[in-house]
Amino acid sequence: MSAERTVLVLNSGSSSVKFQLIQPDSGASLADGVVERIGEESSSASLTLGEREVSRDDKVADHEAALRTAFELFEEAGAQLGSVGLVAVGHRVVHGGPDLYRPTLIDDALVAELEELAPMAPLHNPPAVLGINVARKALPDLPHVAVFDTAFFHDLPPAAATYAIDRDIAEQWHIRRYGFHGTSHQYVSEQAAAFLGAAPESLNQIVLHLGNGASASAIVGGRPVDTSMGLTPMEGLVMGTRSGDIDPGVVMYLWRTAGMSVEDIETMLNKRAGVRGLGGEVDFRVLHERIESGDEQAQLAYDVYIHRLRKYIGAYLALLGTTDVISFTAGVGENDAAVRRDALSGLAPLGVELDEHLNASPAKAARRISADRSPTTVLVVPTNEELAIARACVQVVDE
Ligand code: ADP
Repeated sequence: MSAERTVLVLNSGSSSVKFQLIQPDSGASLADGVVERIGEESSSASLTLGEREVSRDDKVADHEAALRTAFELFEEAGAQLGSVGLVAVGHRVVHGGPDLYRPTLIDDALVAELEELAPMAPLHNPPAVLGINVARKALPDLPHVAVFDTAFFHDLPPAAATYAIDRDIAEQWHIRRYGFHGTSHQYVSEQAAAFLGAAPESLNQIVLHLGNGASASAIVGGRPVDTSMGLTPMEGLVMGTRSGDIDPGVVMYLWRTAGMSVEDIETMLNKRAGVRGLGGEVDFRVLHERIESGDEQAQLAYDVYIHRLRKYIGAYLALLGTTDVISFTAGVGENDAAVRRDALSGLAPLGVELDEHLNASPAKAARRISADRSPTTVLVVPTNEELAIARACVQVVDE
C-alpha cells in the first residue's frame, strides 16, 4: 500500500460508526467501512478495501468495541494501520456551539468543551465525543482533529441566523440558527463551480443535501446566505425520520396535554417523524414501491416531503433573485430521479427546467440534468464529506 499521507476519518453516530481511510492529496479513498446497530443483538460491521470486502455480524457492545472491530477488519482485509502513512484522525462533530467552528486540534480541554455542548445536540454530540475518546486512546500518537458541521454557516448574515425571540434570552443561551451539513454544502458548491468551470465567487447557488438528514442552502459568491437547519439539525426540510419545520406550539401542546416528557417529544420528532413517521419507511426506494402498490400513507409521506422541499426552493430562488445553479446531493438527491423531477416541476417560468432524459439517467459522477435552454443549471453532485474532513485535517496538521 502506498505511503502517501493518509487520514482516518471517523463519523460516530448514536448507533453506528462510519470510517474511511483517505489520501487527501490525491482524493483517493483506500478503505470504507461501517459498524452498525451498536449495542443491539443484530450488530453488523463491514469494510471494503480495494477489491476486498470483509464483514462480521457478531454483537458489538459499545463504541469502544466498534472501533476495535473496525481495526480488526482493517487487519483482516490486509491493511496494517501502522503502514498506510496515517498522519491524522479526523472526527466529524455535529455541533460546535457559538465558539467552536474552525477545524481544531483535539486536546482534553476541547473534549471538555464538547461535553458541555451536549444539551445543544443531545443525539449527535455525545456519540462523537465517545468516538473521539476511544480513538484517542487507541491511536494516542496521532493528531486528532474535530471538523464541525456548523463551520460553513458560522458567518450567516444576521437576518438569516437570528430567531425572532427575546434578545436577552437568545443571547444568554446562545440561541441562533447554526446550520448543519456545512462540510457537504461547501464541498458540493465548490464541486459545482468546478464542474461549470466558474469561480465560486461568481455564482449564486442552491444546494439541496437530501440524505437521511436533509438540508438546503442558498450561497452567494461562495458564502452561505441562508440554510434550512437551525439551532439543531431538526429544523427545515422533512427528513427520513425528523419532522423539519414544525409549529413550536405542537411541542407545548404534547407536553401539556398528552403527558409526553421533553425526552419523549424529542425522540418522536427525531426518530418517529418525517417520512418514516408518516409512511412507515425511511428508504425512498421502498417508499416508491409502496406508492406504486397503492399505499396511501406512503403517498402522503412523499407528498409532504416534496411540498416542503418546493417551498424551500421557492424561498431561496426569491432570496437569490438570480440563481445560476441548483445542485442535488446525498443519498436521495444523487439517486432519486423522481424526487428531483417533482421538486422542480413547473418551475420553467422561474428559469428552472430539467431535461427529463438526463435526469432519469443514473450515473455516479457529477452531471448536468437541466435542459440546455434552462437559465438555471441543475446538477447532481456526489458529496464527499469524508474527503473534505480529511483535507481540513491535514490543513490543521500542516499549520
Ligand atoms: P445519511 O448519510 O444521512 O445517513 P445518505 O446520504 O447515505 O444518508 O442517504 C441515505 C438515503 O438515501 C436512504 O435512506 C435512501 O432513502 C436514499 N437512497 C439511497 N440510494 C437510493 C436510490 N438508489 N434511490 C432512492 N433513494 C436512495
